Amino acid sequence: MKIICVGRNYVDHIKELSNDRPTDPVIFIKPDTALLDSSQAFYYPSFSKDVHYELELVYRIGKVGKNIESKFAHKYIDAIGLGIDFTARDVQSRLKEKGLPWEKAKAFNGSAFVSSMRPITEADFVSPIDFELQKNGESVQQGNSDLMIWNIEALIADISQYFTLKTGDYIFTGTPAGVGPVAMGDVLSGFLQGDKLFDLAIK
Ligand code: ZN
Repeated sequence: MKIICVGRNYVDHIKELSNDRPTDPVIFIKPDTALLDSSQAFYYPSFSKDVHYELELVYRIGKVGKNIESKFAHKYIDAIGLGIDFTARDVQSRLKEKGLPWEKAKAFNGSAFVSSMRPITEADFVSPIDFELQKNGESVQQGNSDLMIWNIEALIADISQYFTLKTGDYIFTGTPAGVGPVAMGDVLSGFLQGDKLFDLAIK
């Protein structure tokens, strides 16, 4: 199982980090050791003093595919949920300055939280999907799939040119604006179309 993540897929988030708008999807991968499921807590890593949450729509791959055309991409997804792409922003800033890869900042153990998933429906491909993150009961991120630069079908078409997608892989689709730090003792709660999917403790 692998976790494929998309960076810079929402214009408002690109602006808040002063990044350039990409001409192709920005893709990076987290290993299976990054996966954190909803039965666990997130333990603050010792190598960072500025870990940020990034709430993202997550899709799960339901069958193997390579070079998938966007018009068939929906057939390769079996579930949707929410994820948090935990990012050691201080480590990432140092790596970005030097033009180095991001893995130490984004692919460490526990950096890919995935909520419980629900089966995908046809409506998920035609209607906008809204989602929200609350930190300690206060709303900090509101997203909508309509605001993605590349939707999930376009992302699958792009990603599958480079990587075979396998059953059980997750695709994190990028974060909207509102990213910010977490601290030990915080509780993050995620909502998909108004339904609470998780409470995650930071320890
Ligand atoms: Zn992200």
